[in-house]
Amino acid sequence: MNVFVVNCGSSSLKYQLINSDTEEVIAKGLCERIGIDGKLTHSPAGKDKYEASVSMPDHKTAVSLVLEALTDNEHGVIKDLSEIGAVGHRIVHGGEKFAKSVVIDDNVIEAIAECNDLAPLHNPANLIGISACRALMPDTPMVAVFDTAFHQTMPKKAYLYGLPYEYYEDHKVRKYGFHGTSHSFVSKRLLELIGKESGESKVIICHLGNGSSITAVKDDRSVDTSMGFTPLDGLIMGTRSGSIDPAVVQYLAGKLNISLDEVINILNKKSGVEGISGVSSDFRDLEAASEGGNERAKTALEMFAYRAAGYIGSFTAAMNGVDAIAFTAGIGENNITVRRMICGYLSYLGFELNEDANNVRGQEIMISTPDSKVKVYVIPTNEELAIARETLELVG
Ligand code: AMP
Repeated sequence: MNVFVVNCGSSSLKYQLINSDTEEVIAKGLCERIGIDGKLTHSPAGKDKYEASVSMPDHKTAVSLVLEALTDNEHGVIKDLSEIGAVGHRIVHGGEKFAKSVVIDDNVIEAIAECNDLAPLHNPANLIGISACRALMPDTPMVAVFDTAFHQTMPKKAYLYGLPYEYYEDHKVRKYGFHGTSHSFVSKRLLELIGKESGESKVIICHLGNGSSITAVKDDRSVDTSMGFTPLDGLIMGTRSGSIDPAVVQYLAGKLNISLDEVINILNKKSGVEGISGVSSDFRDLEAASEGGNERAKTALEMFAYRAAGYIGSFTAAMNGVDAIAFTAGIGENNITVRRMICGYLSYLGFELNEDANNVRGQEIMISTPDSKVKVYVIPTNEELAIARETLELVG
């Protein structure tokens, strides 16, 4: 069966068509600048890439252009839409309503909309993607796969904040965690690699990309994670501050004479390693600047690694040990220096870095020496494939 995986942002739509039998990507692409002007980039497997600037006033138009591209005589990959057996939608926030993926019906759509407050930039866009696909493929089964669902197994002691309890009860203020699809996908693979698919296991997944989070996974269930009520919490990221003393927000608003919204915008978009270095949010640029003697870029990298090591340590303590650790996502899979810096903090675990193994990018490999007590791996993530698998499981 072919599964159409859709990831809708406020002005973008990423998609993949995956053959769920072979798990091959038949085509993938991106619609950008929806509601502004519109650009489609469509990459069919084994054929030339197709790019077009086309008017995309809304997401429905974008979905319809993608479906045309998929069925086009020249750059298409299927004859008609009946060859799409199911659609898997990435949904950012499922609140406490969704602890796993679900088949989409009217009730599910309503429940997702009730989570809009928790992810005002993302969930409404995700819902627009669902309604656009339903309008064009009314008889095709669709599945919602949530970024937050994997973390719904966290215990109360990990997800509650030290706030008056009624804010949790009345306003759902708690830690939710994100990147759940990736953490779940990579932790399953890690458990396979260390031969602990069933029974007791303690692993830590470091999803390090533009947005970064680290998750403690005990017996195949998320028990704590570094992101919180929003994806702003936890690690220092490309442009996000990660955890800070909340009193800084009020202090900065007063000093700079700006609103709370403006401070939060600074914490989301102008902070992190970009804010610290003044160079870039991209770790390749940071590394080059640091090697060229830029002290602030060097400090930014050191801060990133220090905080990541802190989470690994705290989750190791929370689980009373760790069997294995995995690095994934753009930085985790590709940045040799950052991995080495984080690993430099882990000798207390009886871990030693295999420098030769670490000297690779984008491939699955064990980077701990054979004698290390704790095994450390690089495992490429694949959120689209994870969504396709979940979709197939529910409607296949
Ligand atoms: P993501 O959000 O997962 O796409 O990750 C983006 C981050 O991954 C950026 O900071 C990139 O610098 C980093 N990254 C991607 N490819 C490489 C590479 N080949 N070498 C070093 N860093 C990389």
